[in-house]
Amino acid sequence: MIDKRTHTGGNLHCQELEGINVHKYGAHIFHTSNREIWQFVNSLVEFNRFTNSPVANYQGKLYNLPFNMNTFNQMWGTKTPEEAEAKINEQRSEALENIKTQGIVTPRNLEEQALTLVGKDIYQRLVKGYTEKQWGRKCSELPAFIIKRLPVRFTFDNNYFNDTFQGIPIGGYNRLINTMLEGIETQLETNYFSERNYFNSIAKKIIFTGQIDQFYDYRFGNLEYRTVRFEHKTLQTPNFQATP
Ligand SMILES: Cc1cc2nc3c(=O)[nH]c(=O)nc-3n(C[C@H](O)[C@H](O)[C@H](O)COP(=O)(O)OP(=O)(O)OC[C@H]3O[C@@H](n4cnc5c(N)ncnc54)[C@H](O)[C@@H]3O)c2cc1C
Repeated sequence: MIDKRTHTGGNLHCQELEGINVHKYGAHIFHTSNREIWQFVNSLVEFNRFTNSPVANYQGKLYNLPFNMNTFNQMWGTKTPEEAEAKINEQRSEALENIKTQGIVTPRNLEEQALTLVGKDIYQRLVKGYTEKQWGRKCSELPAFIIKRLPVRFTFDNNYFNDTFQGIPIGGYNRLINTMLEGIETQLETNYFSERNYFNSIAKKIIFTGQIDQFYDYRFGNLEYRTVRFEHKTLQTPNFQATP
């Protein structure tokens, strides 16, 4: 096992800061519907019962994600699935009518696609900003195929994942990774590309987790990578925002 970083575990790497187990590359929740995988990781470490239920803050107003009956209640005050569905359908029809009057048959970009899938309120408050930040481009300049569906739930269920099992290892991911790597030769600060021929010669099979365009010597072109920048701050409060 080699890694060019100074630690193992890739994006799952954790660091204890002020008694807090910090996921250095962003919060990670383990989730799977595969019982065998779940039993395997639980045989190595114990998991907590964390359920990912994010809250979006749009201009000071809080909304539950993924879009569900709680979100619709916060947005429109609707209380039944029938009321919520009617509201969404009304806004979808409006969007479809809008593009039709421009002579457009199928949505030409992500913005038009999202508007016809969920309507203007959900799009403007919960899709647009998030998507533009993630892709670094305007929704009107992104292709429509990126979002084929925008699942809406007509139940009061804030669980982000649909998988059967989810959680975070108690004590963090490093324990899980270290247990998995027991007895496996590990070399850090080692770049596969600097000794590619040597590593190819000593392994029967290689699982490569780096940049795929570089792996193919860029012969299929360069990929447009997006990345994340983390700014860590320690706040003197026991509970900052009550949710991740
Ligand atoms: C902010 C954020 C939050 C996320 N949250 C979740 C979540 O809650 N749940 C979830 O399931 N997934 C989540 N993901 C996705 C998850 O991080 C990835 O799917 C997962 O890390 C992929 O694992 P990996 O081992 O393939 O790659 P990585 O974790 O990226 O590890 C790849 C490793 O390969 C090393 N490497 C790369 N190139 C070379 C090279 N040339 N030589 C040597 N070493 C090299 C890197 O240094 C790195 O350590 C999240 C991702 C992000 C960015």
